[in-house]
Amino acid sequence: MESSQSYSIEDIEKVSRQQLIDGQDVESVSGARFTRESPAHGVVVSEFPESDLADIDAAVAAARRAFESGWRTLDGASRAKLLHRVGDLIRRDAESLAIAESLESGKPISQARGEVAGTAELWEYAATLARHNIGDAHNHLGPDVMALSVYEPVGVVGMITPWNFPILIISQKLPFALAAGNTAVVKPSESTSSTTVMLAQLVREAGFPDGVVNVVTGGAQAGSALVAHRDVDMLSFTGSTRVGRWLAAAAGSDLNKVELERGGKNPQIVTAKADFHAAVDAAVFGGYFNVGQCCNSGSRLIVHRSIADEFAHAVVARTSQVPVGDPLLAETQVGAIVNGTQLETIERFVAEGISAGATMLTGGAHFPGSTQLFFEPTVFTNVTADMSIAREEIFGPVLSIMPFDNLTEAVAIANGTEYGLSAGIWSDDINEALTIARDVRAGTIWVNRWMDGYPELAFGGYGSSGIGRELGRQAIAEFSELKTIQLQVGRRTARWVNAPDA
Ligand code: NAD
Repeated sequence: MESSQSYSIEDIEKVSRQQLIDGQDVESVSGARFTRESPAHGVVVSEFPESDLADIDAAVAAARRAFESGWRTLDGASRAKLLHRVGDLIRRDAESLAIAESLESGKPISQARGEVAGTAELWEYAATLARHNIGDAHNHLGPDVMALSVYEPVGVVGMITPWNFPILIISQKLPFALAAGNTAVVKPSESTSSTTVMLAQLVREAGFPDGVVNVVTGGAQAGSALVAHRDVDMLSFTGSTRVGRWLAAAAGSDLNKVELERGGKNPQIVTAKADFHAAVDAAVFGGYFNVGQCCNSGSRLIVHRSIADEFAHAVVARTSQVPVGDPLLAETQVGAIVNGTQLETIERFVAEGISAGATMLTGGAHFPGSTQLFFEPTVFTNVTADMSIAREEIFGPVLSIMPFDNLTEAVAIANGTEYGLSAGIWSDDINEALTIARDVRAGTIWVNRWMDGYPELAFGGYGSSGIGRELGRQAIAEFSELKTIQLQVGRRTARWVNAPDA
C-alpha cells in the first residue's frame, strides 16, 4: 500500500483481539471483554479481553518461567538477532499498524506512519545494545584484588503504557528490557491496545521463546493488579503524573525498582535574536502535533516582549492554515481528541484561562466534525505564569504566549512548574542559547529545533516528569541490576588471629 494513502471509516472492519500469554492468544479467564470506538468517527473499531487477577497471575508466571529457563542467560548475539527481526516485521506491517494506531487514538494517519517508522528504529537500536552490555573492570584496588561490575537483568518487568503513542512508548521500554535479559508483562492503555497486541504477535513470529513477552489488556484494574503482584521485580510506567505518583508509592512499599515517565508542561523560549519564522513554525508544530496530546507538547511560549505581539499574530495566522479533520485522510495534521473526558478537560482549562484574564486570539471551541471529539487549535496571549493554562498539562491543542523582558525572567518562567520533561530555545546567539540550556531544568533541551528524538539519546524528566531514563546506552543500566564481583589475586593469607591456619 502507498504510504500517502487515505482511508474511509466505511471500509474499516471491527477487529476482535486477544491477550498474548505464554505464546498463546487467550481470552481473559472471566470471559469479559471491552470495546474501543474511533474517537473521530464514533464507531467501534476493536474489542479486547478485560484482564483480571487470574490473567495477570498467568502472565507473570509465564514471564518468570521464561526468565529462569534460558532467556536470562542467553547470549547477546542471539538476543540481538531476535530484536532485529522484530524491527523488520514492524516495517513489513507498518501500514496496518499505522491504521490501527490512527483509528484508536484519533491521531492523523501521517503521524501514525511516522510513529511506526520510529518504532522499528528503536528495536534495531536495542539490538545493538544487546551485544554491548558491558560493565566495568577494576585493576587499581591493590595487589591482591581485581573486581568486576556486571549488569544482570532485573527479572520480570511489568510495563504500563499510555494511549497517546502506544507502539512507540512500549518500544522505548520493551526491546531495551529484553536486550538486558529481562522478560515482560505489558499492559497497554485500554484506549489504544491494538498495536501493542499486534507488536507482541510480531515478537512471537520473530522467534522469541514463549513467555518472554506477555500482553494483558484492560484498564486501571488490570494495571493495579500488575503493580501489586509480588512476583514482578520492576515496574516501568509511562502515563500521567497522577497515576505515576500513586504507582511509585504502591511499588515503593514492596521496594520494587521503578522507572517512571510522566507528564510535561514544556516551555519554548523565543528570544529577540531568534529565527522568527522557524520559531513560529515550531510553536505551531509543538502545540498541535498529536492534537496537543503529547508529553513533549511545547505549549508554553515564552517570548521576548519586543516581538511578542508580532509572534502571536504569526502563530494565529499559521494556526488557521493547519488542516484539522478526519485522521484517516493523508492531508490531516490535527485529528480527534482521544475521548469525551479529555475534551471536557480541555474545555475546562480554556474557560479557566478566559476567566483568569488571558486573551483568546483564536479557537476555543468544538471543531465542526463528524462527532464532537474535535477541538479547534487555540492560542492565548496575556497569559501570566500563575494561570492554570500556563502551569498544568492541558493535553490538547492549546498554546499560551507569555512575554519576558530579560533572560533571568525567561528562565524563571520556564522553571516555574512542577514539571521538567523538555524545553526549547530559539536564539541565533550561541551564548544566550547555552546560558538558557544550562539553567532550564528539563531532561531534554532543544536548541533551534523541537521534538526530534533519537534512539541513541536518553529521554526522561526532572521533577514531576519522571524517575529514570529511557533510550540511549543508559537504558541497559535502567533495566539492570549492577553486581560487584571481587576476585582474590594470589593465595589469601589469613587475617584473623583465631583462624585455623593463623
Ligand atoms: P494515565 O496515567 O491515565 O494511564 C496510563 C496507563 O496507566 C494506562 O495503561 C492506564 O490503564 C494505567 N492506569 C490507570 N490507572 C491505573 C492504576 N490505578 N494502576 C495501574 N495502572 C493504571 O495516562 P494516559 O491518559 O493514558 O496518558 C497521558 C499521560 O501520559 C499524560 O500525562 C502524558 O504527559 C503522559 N505521557 C508521558 C510520556 C513521557 O515519556 N514522559 C509519554 C507519553 C505520555
